[in-house]
Amino acid sequence: MPAAFLGHGSPMNALDVNRYTEAWRAFGENVPRPRAILVVSAHWYINASAVTAMVRPRTIHDFFGFPDELFAFDYPAAGDPELADAVVDLAQPMWVGLDHDSWGIDHGAWSVLAHAFPHADVPVVQLSIDAAKALAFHFELGARLAPLRAERVLVIASGNVVHNLGLMDSRRADAGTDWAHRFDEEARAVMTTSPGTIVETARHGDYPLAVPTPDHFIPLLYLAGLADAAAAPAQVLVDGYAYGSLSMTSYTLGFDSPVDVAETRGAAPLPDMPPDSMNL
Ligand code: ZN
Repeated sequence: MPAAFLGHGSPMNALDVNRYTEAWRAFGENVPRPRAILVVSAHWYINASAVTAMVRPRTIHDFFGFPDELFAFDYPAAGDPELADAVVDLAQPMWVGLDHDSWGIDHGAWSVLAHAFPHADVPVVQLSIDAAKALAFHFELGARLAPLRAERVLVIASGNVVHNLGLMDSRRADAGTDWAHRFDEEARAVMTTSPGTIVETARHGDYPLAVPTPDHFIPLLYLAGLADAAAAPAQVLVDGYAYGSLSMTSYTLGFDSPVDVAETRGAAPLPDMPPDSMNL
């Protein structure tokens, strides 16, 4: 089974059709049918590693200020408690707790799954990001998930390689600053040649601006860990920039189908609201 890191950007992408959402759709259409999907979302960023273990995960609308239709969005995929147990076992001796009622499917997951698996007919489990752990922990935990690929489990990490909400300019829908380009290109060079060294990109001079908080960057480390475990580089699925300070680059592992999305337009427009109220 392939695996992916998808740059999710604005939650408005859940309702939009653009070059990124078309790439996510093409990915979902061209992978072998998964038994289940394990999502590592930037938006479940807590002080523990946990995995959702409920039979019916709820759709979480973890943002403010967006249109009503986004709050009405429902992604009614089933859970998969057996997969949750398998994640707990594979992670050992790292500890992962079973979450029976606190979380569900957040917008980092459903904004991309809405396109990749629009019928919500594949069970979905989420793995949290432990905010207290170093980058190397997440890379290693990603590598430990590698056996799931042989069990027809599709691992999707969802974040953004470059993600600085404080420096976002909503008028520059398809633009990226110089430092956003430089850091995204550095991450690309590593992911497509030597993903086992991804943690070292935190020493790059543009890391402090590109990754002011690590929540959206860390999901990339899970794909890098899977790639390292497979001794294979990742490939770029689609790339681009949004609002100056986000990169929308997505990566795949073990996915060979060509995806041509160059003709469609870029990121979804944002509602008019102050950047510090957003939760992209
Ligand atoms: Zn986000």
